[in-house]
Amino acid sequence: QLRSAQPTTLPQYSALARLLSTLAVLEQREGKLNVSSLAAITAGTKLGGSITAFVAGSGAKAVADEAAKVKGVDKIIYVENGAYDKGLPENFAPLLVENIKKGGFTHVFAGHSAFGKNIMPRVAALLDSQQISDITEIESEDTFVRPIYAGNAILTVQSSDSIKVITVRGTAFPSPETDGGSAALEEGVDPKVESPTEWVSEDLAKSDRPDLGSADKVVSGGRGLKSKEEFDRLMPPLADALGAAIGASRAAVDSGFADNSLQVGQTGKNVAPQLYLCAGISGAIQHLAGMKDSKVIAAINKDPDAPIFQVADVGLVGDLFDKVPELTEKLKAQ
Ligand code: FAD
Repeated sequence: QLRSAQPTTLPQYSALARLLSTLAVLEQREGKLNVSSLAAITAGTKLGGSITAFVAGSGAKAVADEAAKVKGVDKIIYVENGAYDKGLPENFAPLLVENIKKGGFTHVFAGHSAFGKNIMPRVAALLDSQQISDITEIESEDTFVRPIYAGNAILTVQSSDSIKVITVRGTAFPSPETDGGSAALEEGVDPKVESPTEWVSEDLAKSDRPDLGSADKVVSGGRGLKSKEEFDRLMPPLADALGAAIGASRAAVDSGFADNSLQVGQTGKNVAPQLYLCAGISGAIQHLAGMKDSKVIAAINKDPDAPIFQVADVGLVGDLFDKVPELTEKLKAQ
């Protein structure tokens, strides 16, 4: 069902836009809207046509009130039921499918997050549709662009499915304005499917720093930091001086210098901040896959031939154990 395609005109310029209707699946946690999930709305705006957002859980009505202010949304469908709080695919997917069928949507977008990756394949299977993952561009109503091989190749895919089930890369679809909108609210249908799985517990890393996935600035440390003690001594003060989130390479995570949740790259988080400042990271393709869309990349590395310098806008060749504290002091003095 996926084949290479010639780009066609974006539908908002054609009569087709009138026939398109997007369902953007939003995420919530403890009754609070997860702002990064608004990328699904941005994708709907790029597509053209009407946009309905969907949210479910025990605080769904309050989240719907918040989401109604987002620019570009026509309607919010909410389902108030604590059984959907944790986004278990076994009951969330049939819930979505019921609401998709009722609303007659042509496109269903969700973020390419743990939630989206968990729910959307099951939704696609129930609709007998081919899911399209992690898109970075919309070329037309049936043609989408997505990276493959850790971002080393770009694939253009065309789908002939009547309902297109798609996850979107958040960094490629920046969040829309969160005020100025006035969407209508509507209660959705709730099939109340019993889930055979049960939510037991979660162990979340807590931090007062900005969220890595959506921060404007990220400072990231690699194996060059040598130990957890050095990582903790050097990276947090630099992050605090810049008001940045902290990231890490997989080598740093695997060596125990940093928590798993901080990993940036192919098997970690995708980030695209205004500034990505990294120290002691060589620039392996799997790391670049997660950060190369950053607006400004600055790197500190003692090896002038390190591959990171091929993508860096600003490079500093030197020993990070001298350069990072010096930079931190200069930033603090500003
Ligand atoms: P290294 O490659 O060892 O680089 C350390 C760098 O520090 C070197 O360039 C060195 O010159 C520099 N350095 C050392 N001492 C100093 C000093 N005193 N001052 C300044 N510079 C110094 N990696 C990720 O990061 N994210 C991923 O999501 C990811 N996913 C992967 C998925 C797969 C399937 C595979 C196979 C690999 C994946 N990797 C990932 C691993 C990746 O290939 C690299 O091994 C990893 O990114 C290397 O991390 P690093 O740059 O910290 O370490």
